[in-house]
Amino acid sequence: MKILVLNSGSSSVKYQLVDPESRSFLAKGLIDRVGMSDSVVTHERHDGDKVKISAEVLDHQTAIEYVLAVLLSKNHGVIRDKSEIDAVGHRVVHGGESFAESVLIDERVIDEIRENIELAPLHNPHNLRGIQAVLKHLPGTPQVAVFDTAFHQHMPPHAFLYGIPYLLYRRYKIRRYGFHGTSHFYVSQRAAELIGKPINELKIVTAHLGNGCSMAAIDHGVSVDTSMGFTPLEGLLMGTRSGDLDPAIILTIVGREGLSLAEANTLLNKHSGLLGISGLTSDMREIISEKKTGNKQADLAFQVFAYRIKKYIGSYAAAMGGLDAVVFTGGIGENSPDVRAESCKNLEFLGLKIDSDRNNSPEKEKLISTESSNVKVFALPTNEELVIALDTMRIVGTPVGKTVRPAGLGMNPSGDNHRDATELSRRGRAGESSGAGHHSK
Ligand code: ADP
Repeated sequence: MKILVLNSGSSSVKYQLVDPESRSFLAKGLIDRVGMSDSVVTHERHDGDKVKISAEVLDHQTAIEYVLAVLLSKNHGVIRDKSEIDAVGHRVVHGGESFAESVLIDERVIDEIRENIELAPLHNPHNLRGIQAVLKHLPGTPQVAVFDTAFHQHMPPHAFLYGIPYLLYRRYKIRRYGFHGTSHFYVSQRAAELIGKPINELKIVTAHLGNGCSMAAIDHGVSVDTSMGFTPLEGLLMGTRSGDLDPAIILTIVGREGLSLAEANTLLNKHSGLLGISGLTSDMREIISEKKTGNKQADLAFQVFAYRIKKYIGSYAAAMGGLDAVVFTGGIGENSPDVRAESCKNLEFLGLKIDSDRNNSPEKEKLISTESSNVKVFALPTNEELVIALDTMRIVGTPVGKTVRPAGLGMNPSGDNHRDATELSRRGRAGESSGAGHHSK
């Protein structure tokens, strides 16, 4: 089976053609600078063949045309005909309360994704453009939406409600949603595999640390809390986002600096975080190299970043009443031993101890805690595309005569894990909110 996985952003389209049965990619790439005349297509085949093409990609329709052209290309392609693509899986950022699972896309689903634009005005419109482009260029090919928010839809009300009038939740759906769900799901499942225990026996804290950063408390395979909230601005310090702050700060800044609300929004989303504190860069590699040359502001940014991760580890251990594993992923989480070591410093009281040699070893997927550490700590590469491909395969069904996928890693595994997750979520959900199934609005 061949599944095309698409992540359609405002100015880029990421794609991957995945064989979900062998869990491998056939080709992947990125169309950057969509909407501009100097777009770039970067394409890589499974055998290492790479090509970079300059193009004019003015919209998502053209971007999908390019994706198909390069997948079909004689020299760099991997398929002979479009019909070899069995289904398309889309990363969709916001499913609101409508979707707690991945779903086959039909007119009604498109309408609901559109309805959720008010919750994710910067993302859902582009995700929809990707879906519309596939409808045009691959008509009749089944499409599946996999939501960034879905994995967190089982959070109990005491975790997702803010301390503001309840009316505002009812009226404007203001609540915690959480993001990076597919990544938190994947690395928690992978950690359970590596530990060798069913996920429904484990309490895991996951930290996805990229340009955007979030953490999740995953109890028995269910996300019971997460650090991003109504929007991806809340929680950890990020590359350019502030993360947690006293809401009165916004009122003060707007008053003192004479900023408009739009300017305050830009300040908190684009000029804060690592960049704001260091005054130098949002890039953790540069923060670390500057800090090592004695730059005090870079050191401060690094300390704030790591301290906040440590606080979330502690609070999520308390929220779950225990901790079996911590997982680091994302560009920073996978690659920075310094961040991992600093965030886990002095957590021995929780039974968590980092092994410095393991933490600094070059392997990509590794256990970094000591043999005697009660809490297992991992650095694991995430693989959101694989989860999207597996979910897509499960939802569109396996063609007659083909092997069924190995169980386990789709977002909605049909085994015991999922039953437990569903039961837990039923116990935890607010009366008027959606249940475990999708589309229960
Ligand atoms: P995105 O959220 O855009 O997908 P990534 O997951 O690729 O981003 O993460 C980007 C971040 O990862 C940047 O801050 C970058 O500096 C950091 N990063 C990548 N490699 C390293 C490394 N070796 N050490 C520290 N940070 C790294």
